[in-house]
Amino acid sequence: MSFASLWESLLPIGRDAGTGGYRRYSWTPADAECRRWFFETAAERNLRADADRNGNLWAWWDVPWADSEAAVVTGSHLDSVPDGGAYDGPLGVVTAFAAIDLLRERGLAPVRPLAVAAFCEEEGARFGVACLGSRLLADAIDPARARALTDAGGTTFAAAMTAAGHDPAALGPDPGLLAGVGAYVELHIEQGCALAGMDAAIGVAERIWPHGRWRLTFTGRADHAGTTRLGDRRDPMLAAAATVLAARGAAARHGALATVGKLTVDPGAVNAISSSVTTWLDARAPDEARLRALVDDVLTQARTAAVAHGVTLDHAQESVTQAVDFDAALRDRMVAALAAAGIRAPVLPTGAGHDAGVLAAWVPTGMLFVRNPTGVSHSPAEHAEPGDCLTGVTALAAVLTDLACS
Ligand SMILES: [Zn+2]
Repeated sequence: MSFASLWESLLPIGRDAGTGGYRRYSWTPADAECRRWFFETAAERNLRADADRNGNLWAWWDVPWADSEAAVVTGSHLDSVPDGGAYDGPLGVVTAFAAIDLLRERGLAPVRPLAVAAFCEEEGARFGVACLGSRLLADAIDPARARALTDAGGTTFAAAMTAAGHDPAALGPDPGLLAGVGAYVELHIEQGCALAGMDAAIGVAERIWPHGRWRLTFTGRADHAGTTRLGDRRDPMLAAAATVLAARGAAARHGALATVGKLTVDPGAVNAISSSVTTWLDARAPDEARLRALVDDVLTQARTAAVAHGVTLDHAQESVTQAVDFDAALRDRMVAALAAAGIRAPVLPTGAGHDAGVLAAWVPTGMLFVRNPTGVSHSPAEHAEPGDCLTGVTALAAVLTDLACS
């Protein structure tokens, strides 16, 4: 099987020697190397590769005698979060090429076009909007807004794209390309450890939980840490801290997830009571009603904490993504194809967003998960066992055989 050599060839690209994590950000030299790897891998397999107008990569197994124009597409993304793991994204792309090799080894050929895709800026690590390439393709973000997104250094997405040799004027929806896609199946490392608990190497996605981001700003009064009596303080940090803990408790009560992973403090001095603290709440729940109840619960407790500490609270919803139910017919077909190949694949939900979730508004999409023994993701410690990766290739090949070769 070609998986191991393909995996090894991609592994060194964009890896930071100090942390062992990956820094594969869009339109950087590491990204250019990933793109070169994609084109070389496609060329070795006589697949016709190109970049679409949004910087997404496609490698086509053309079928001139196709019984249908509707292509079967598989893939994922090659970019990473800061110091991300090796598997999140690349596992789906490498497995896609390896599955095509396995089809050919078995003497199988598609009766409709089959393609491997790698979507641009999936993590949003450089320009702040996750799944940017698929959102542009699927008309889920205004191209003018995408062009103007900036990275931490002030470089716009348009400027970065231009410097990498792509024309940002062409950014935008591509209904023609999407109309030619009959199904999209993304294989991804599991970002959790449900499969480990079920003793299964492969899972099939049921739905993506609805999720969103809220910004909460507590404003009090800056003052001297050494001379202001405790009773005289209006310290926004105390209300923010209470809210962080409240979010955790609320998540547990609602059977959901809530995280405060970012806060900014003004003025941010060691010896001063802060004037304001802004926190960002990331909330995810099995359904919209529970997400709303969770966020209302956190906001109520944040208001109570603000009053208790004599500070004000402003809050804003920055984004909400509705639940995505993957196509039920495709999901059932995938489960059946896997069962026929002798692979038991439980169906499970996920709290993480993916390109497959964005594309689900336009095309039937489905996802396969590969077991992650510790559940750790977005970290250099992210891992899948080699045997499970090979089962992933077999599983994807079984699904592609069913969808594209019969
Ligand atoms: Zn991913």
